[in-house]
Amino acid sequence: MIQAMPQYGRQFSVLKQEMIARGRGDVQWRDGKTAVYVFNAGEDVTEVQKQGYLLYLSENGLGPAAFPSLKKMEEEVVGMGLSLLHGPQGAVGHMTSGGTDSITMAVKAARDYARAQGQAEPFNLVLPYSAHPAFDKAAALMSIDIRRVAVRPDYLADVAAMADQIDGSTIMMVGSAPSFPYGLIDPIADLSELAEARQIWLHVDACVGGYIAPFVEMNGVDLPAWDFRVPGVCSLSADLHKYGYCAKGASTIFYRSETFRDHMIFDHKAWPAGRMVTPTLAGTRPGGAISSAWAVMNYLGVAGYKQKQQCVTRARAHIEVGVTKMGFEVLGAPQLGIMAFSHPELDVFALYKRLYERGWVTSLCTQPKALHLMLSPFHETVVDQYLTDLAWAVAQVRAGATDAVTEVRYS
Ligand SMILES: *Cc1c(COP(=O)(O)O)cnc(C)c1O
Repeated sequence: MIQAMPQYGRQFSVLKQEMIARGRGDVQWRDGKTAVYVFNAGEDVTEVQKQGYLLYLSENGLGPAAFPSLKKMEEEVVGMGLSLLHGPQGAVGHMTSGGTDSITMAVKAARDYARAQGQAEPFNLVLPYSAHPAFDKAAALMSIDIRRVAVRPDYLADVAAMADQIDGSTIMMVGSAPSFPYGLIDPIADLSELAEARQIWLHVDACVGGYIAPFVEMNGVDLPAWDFRVPGVCSLSADLHKYGYCAKGASTIFYRSETFRDHMIFDHKAWPAGRMVTPTLAGTRPGGAISSAWAVMNYLGVAGYKQKQQCVTRARAHIEVGVTKMGFEVLGAPQLGIMAFSHPELDVFALYKRLYERGWVTSLCTQPKALHLMLSPFHETVVDQYLTDLAWAVAQVRAGATDAVTEVRYS
C-alpha cells in the first residue's frame, strides 16, 4: 500500500486520540482474556516499564562509551540474570532485542566455534520437534540444516532419538525450558550427558522460562535441572520481555565462558568510518529497552518476582483442576506458566472458536490438538470466568456448535 504523507502535520493531541481509537479494535488484553502475546503483571509494573523506558528513550545502546549509564544498567541486568540462572565463574551475557535475536546469536556463536574447531560443513542443528521456529530462522539465515526429532509420548525431547541424528557436522543440540507448545521442561541433564559425550554445544532455550523458573523453584517447587547447574549447557536464552515483565525488545543471551561468547561478537573495520564492534544482531539499540528492564527488575526484586510467579502458578494449578474435572487431559505435568490440554472426545478447535466468541484470545497446539494458555499474574483474577466460559463452550459443542478454527497461526 502506498500512502501519501500528509502535507502538513497535525497536533499530537489529535493524533493521540486517533491512536487510542485505533487500539479499540485490538484484543482487549487488559481485561485478562488474552493468554498469548502479552504479559500482564499489573498496572504498577506497566507504569515502571513506561517511566523506565522514557528516561533513556533517545539514548543508544550501540555506544556504551558515550552512555556509561546504559552500559552499567545492561551489565547489572545481565549480572542479575546470571545469578538467577546459576552462571558459573566466567559466565557472560548480553542483552538482545528478543528471543529470536538471542537464539540467532547463539547459533552464530556455535557456528563460528565449530568453524574454528574445523568441523565439516554443511552444519546441522538437532532439536526436538517442540523447539521454537527461531532456530529454523537462524539456520535458514546461515545455511545450516535443521534436524527436528519427534518428541516422546510424554511430549519431552527424545534424547535417544536425538542421539541418532547427531553426526560430525552437528554444531548444536537444543532443549527447551520449557517448550512453548507444551510448557514442559525437556530432560536437560540427559541432553547434557549426550552433549558432553559427543562434544556438542548444548543450547537451552529458556526464552519463556528463564525468568519464571528460578522463582518457581524459590517458591518450593522441585524442578528438573535446566540451567547452568547442568554442566553441558554452553548457552542459554531467556527473554526479559516475557516472564521478566520488562518492556518489549528485551532478552538475554548467556554463555558458560568467554571463549564461547567471543564467537558471537562481530568486529568490523574495513569501511571508511572506523571499527564497529557489535555483540548482537542490532547496530543501534534502544536505550529504553535496557533502562526499562533495569527498572522493572529493581522494582520487583526477588520478593516481587516470587509473588508474581506464585500468582501465575496458582492460576495454572486452579485451571488444571477445573479442566480435569471437565474431562480434559493436561499434556504432561506443567510446572511454570504455560499449559496445554486436550479432550478425548471433543474437537478443541471448535471449543476455541466458542471461547473466542466470548472474548478469549488464547492459543492452540496442533500435535496433539489442545487448548493452550500462557498465563500472567493477572490471570489469577479471571480463572473462574475462564472455567465458566469453557464449561459453556463444552456444552455448546456437545449441542452441535462444532464449527471450528481451521488454522493455527501466529502472524
Ligand atoms: C517466545 C519464544 C521464543 C522467541 O522469542 P521472541 O522474543 O518472540 O523472538 C523462543 N523460544 C521460546 C520457547 C519462546 O517461547
